[in-house]
Amino acid sequence: MSADAVVVGSGPNGLVAAVLLAEAGLRVTLLEAGERFGGGLRSAELTLPGRVHDMGATVMALALASPAFRELGVERLVEFAHPAVAAAHPLDDRPAVLVHRDPARTAAGLGADGAAWLRGPGATARAGSPLVDLLLKPLGPWEADPRAFAAAARFGLGGALPATTYARRAFRTVEGRAVFAGMAAHSLLDLRSPITAGYGLLLSALAHLVGWPLVRGGSQVLADALVARLRVLGGEAVSGHRVRELKELDAPTVVLDVTPRQFLELAELPAGYRDRLRRFRYGPGVFKMDWALDGPVPWRDPAVAGAGTVHLGGTLEEIALSEAETARGRHSPRPYVLLVQPYAADPTRGGHTLWAYCHVPNGSPVDMTGAIEDQIERYAPGFRDRVLARHAMGPAALEADNPNLVGGDIGGGLAALSQFVRRPVWSPAPWRTPLPGVFLCSASTPPGAGAHGMGGWQAARLALEHRRSRA
Ligand SMILES: Cc1cc2nc3c(=O)[nH]c(=O)nc-3n(C[C@H](O)[C@H](O)[C@H](O)COP(=O)(O)OP(=O)(O)OC[C@H]3O[C@@H](n4cnc5c(N)ncnc54)[C@H](O)[C@@H]3O)c2cc1C
Repeated sequence: MSADAVVVGSGPNGLVAAVLLAEAGLRVTLLEAGERFGGGLRSAELTLPGRVHDMGATVMALALASPAFRELGVERLVEFAHPAVAAAHPLDDRPAVLVHRDPARTAAGLGADGAAWLRGPGATARAGSPLVDLLLKPLGPWEADPRAFAAAARFGLGGALPATTYARRAFRTVEGRAVFAGMAAHSLLDLRSPITAGYGLLLSALAHLVGWPLVRGGSQVLADALVARLRVLGGEAVSGHRVRELKELDAPTVVLDVTPRQFLELAELPAGYRDRLRRFRYGPGVFKMDWALDGPVPWRDPAVAGAGTVHLGGTLEEIALSEAETARGRHSPRPYVLLVQPYAADPTRGGHTLWAYCHVPNGSPVDMTGAIEDQIERYAPGFRDRVLARHAMGPAALEADNPNLVGGDIGGGLAALSQFVRRPVWSPAPWRTPLPGVFLCSASTPPGAGAHGMGGWQAARLALEHRRSRA
């Protein structure tokens, strides 16, 4: 197989790298182990014929905010479907908190904590895409925009804190603290650890800045559009081809959409680099569920019906406890559940489908079906009566389906402070490897997890620089 560049793996990072390299005029071959392209962007009929379920990423806030996808004109490639409400956070004894696209409307619903919301997530959203671009390019290259650096410094003051500390300092009400905890818990970290407030602030701000939409028709539509673009540019895309050794690739440029553990298996690496990769830490896993329903979820608070995403887990204290248990290697009986009801935004999924997961210790064999459904029933009594079919994937099944999900870790490695930029190694350009012409682009490189393609953007940029310097 002869090409100017081979990209191994077709997750959002691999796809972005492949398209950018092809746009630069290279003959690109994309090799994907799975039967379908997309990695975390695949969709499939997991429950009943005609029901479209996203297998990985479904909320496309990071895709819409990403400089890489902006460069590729993502809004012309696919249609984004926005729910009426970005996210809802139901509570046992009071109305749900609603996060609207409009920060003022969100603040109005938070009562005594409205001003705190505007000072935190609201201010982050007001700093706009220059700040988000900076956060998605934590190691540069940065366009010189002093306002963005000032905004980043302000963001860092609160964002560096543990989410529990930030929530208790900034918010006074049960509602304010709970909704912030639900946002921060996307990080898959113990909410008492540093920078978890940063995840909460960023994700909340994105709800205001770009919304939390889904791809109309399923995330697969985005993956397929990128593969089609690659082919129009003369690239080749091959599925069902798992690369076992780098030696089998005949190309001066190789971009790997794999995590450190797989890289170690693919090639003989210099001892120092190999040892650093071996120290890379994976995060907790997830237990993922999908349902086909015969109607919408019967939420006790009807306002939740309009939300694309629903955070289940109750108060700050409960969510923090659930995440702390997971970090300690235990299973919470009342886990924080991240749920998406695509039908609230996209009527093309073949009916009422539902997507959710909870965090579990890495590699956990425990079936969390009951615990997840109990959390849904808690806020939507009668939910189980609506279930026509269910599909569950624990860590082992997730990893068997996509080798990048090591032990069910959907983030490509722990997203703690220690691995935020030291990802997978400490370097001003961690996408570069000691093997000449070989680059890493997966979520195990900065800026980490999410369907933003920025690892692919960085790896493609460095690969092109490398080719120019050799020429
Ligand atoms: C259940 C779940 C829910 C998620 N929800 C969201 C969400 O709502 N929003 C969001 O922004 N992000 C979400 N994410 C995270 C997001 O999907 C990932 O961060 C993102 O897909 C990472 O992209 P990637 O390109 O690094 O790797 P992946 O998307 O994991 O793709 C890697 C690809 O490489 C292939 N591959 C690996 N090794 C080889 C090999 N040796 N040869 C050939 N091919 C190989 C794999 O088969 C896979 O297709 C979710 C992920 C999961 C799993």
